[in-house]
Amino acid sequence: MLSRRLAPQIGGPARRSGEFLTVRLLATERFCAMPSRDTTSLHPHVFRAPSEIELSMQTTTLLHISPDYGLQMIRARAIERSLPFEEKSNGLILDLPLGQICASKETAGLRLTLTASDQMKLHLLQEAVDHRLDEEGVALDRRWSLTELGVVPPTLTFATVVSCERLYPSYYRVRLSGASLERFSRDGLHFRLLFPPEAYKGQWPIVSVNGRVEWPGGISQWHRPVYTTRSVNLEKGTLDFDVFAHDGGRVTDWCRTLRPGVEAAIMGPGGEWLPDARWIALFGDETALPAIARILESLPEKSSGVATIVISDPRDVQHLDTTGGLTVRWLVRGKDMSLLDELKKLQLPDGDRFVWIASERSEVNQARDMLADRGLQKAEMRVASYWSRQKL
Ligand SMILES: Cc1cc2nc3c(=O)[nH]c(=O)nc-3n(C[C@H](O)[C@H](O)[C@H](O)COP(=O)(O)OP(=O)(O)OC[C@H]3O[C@@H](n4cnc5c(N)ncnc54)[C@H](O)[C@@H]3O)c2cc1C
Repeated sequence: MLSRRLAPQIGGPARRSGEFLTVRLLATERFCAMPSRDTTSLHPHVFRAPSEIELSMQTTTLLHISPDYGLQMIRARAIERSLPFEEKSNGLILDLPLGQICASKETAGLRLTLTASDQMKLHLLQEAVDHRLDEEGVALDRRWSLTELGVVPPTLTFATVVSCERLYPSYYRVRLSGASLERFSRDGLHFRLLFPPEAYKGQWPIVSVNGRVEWPGGISQWHRPVYTTRSVNLEKGTLDFDVFAHDGGRVTDWCRTLRPGVEAAIMGPGGEWLPDARWIALFGDETALPAIARILESLPEKSSGVATIVISDPRDVQHLDTTGGLTVRWLVRGKDMSLLDELKKLQLPDGDRFVWIASERSEVNQARDMLADRGLQKAEMRVASYWSRQKL
């Protein structure tokens, strides 16, 4: 038997079951090897592993479909997405960053067994598999063995606001404290803040009978803006994030009146990780500054390149610790050159290079085209829309 900490809940129908929740590690198909994945080994210079990471968590379901058809479907997906897989005598195994998927033939159908190093990764892996099966039109009546009904999903954490300060003219820094914030120091740069619809205040998403997350009022009714974990203090159990204050922003409004002691619901971590190349160019606007700052603090010493950041106010310039050899350039919006003009001037090395851009949607769309025109391959760039200007 294994145990994991259950995030404290702040009301709503989600089941409270004390501080610890016992979960089952189920017997599964034996041909599946169960390596204990230590994700910190991928990013050794930044983060340490929690004790849970040693554990192997599994869940399994039987798909009532033709096993040969099911295997063919999974094989085709893996090939299409260049995912590594291994053929076995009665099935196949896929190794993914989140964990492992084993598919094995049974008389009654195709058995899927998912293995991950912790409950959260297992949950994310199961969500991804469910999503793919839905796309393939596989019946929705499946049940996963490791489903804890009525509890909040393992990706959801409740934390308490410690402070919210206007550190720079355009930014609030919010500090949260809580028991389960350690995981935000690894596995993904970002998280979502959760704001329920007015009619469902005090209610939270819960795991339903088929292992999926049910959102009170429907997921589309929730405001779930993405923010970047600026830093996690493992000793103090706190997490900081920076909010760019802009007109009409619901999070900006939230920050204006935020007081210590307020409960915040956050979901994650998720999203990208550090760019991996010797030469790196980072381009971002105000909303990408926290991500660029975190990346710069975490890059290996051998990296070189340039970071270009657009700010609204010259007083928003921050001291950024760079572990690598990147130089930082600040551009003041409306005064200096635009991000795209800077990008045009970029001198690209021939290989071992990566260009990372995050900004407003139309700007990054143009940037993507510009980089493709200059011969950059998809694997050599990350172009992310962090927000979109609404058309009036
Ligand atoms: C991976 C990722 C990481 C991110 N990290 C951060 C972060 O660390 N800090 C941060 O501040 N933001 C970050 N963002 C951007 C942030 O999620 C968006 O700006 C989001 O819309 C803010 O939510 P809101 O409730 O304040 O605004 P909303 O209520 O969603 O939007 C209200 C209005 O504000 C406009 N708007 C939204 N963003 C901006 C903006 N930047 N400038 C001007 N108008 C805007 C919208 O078009 C809309 O008209 C990130 C986004 C992504 C995808």
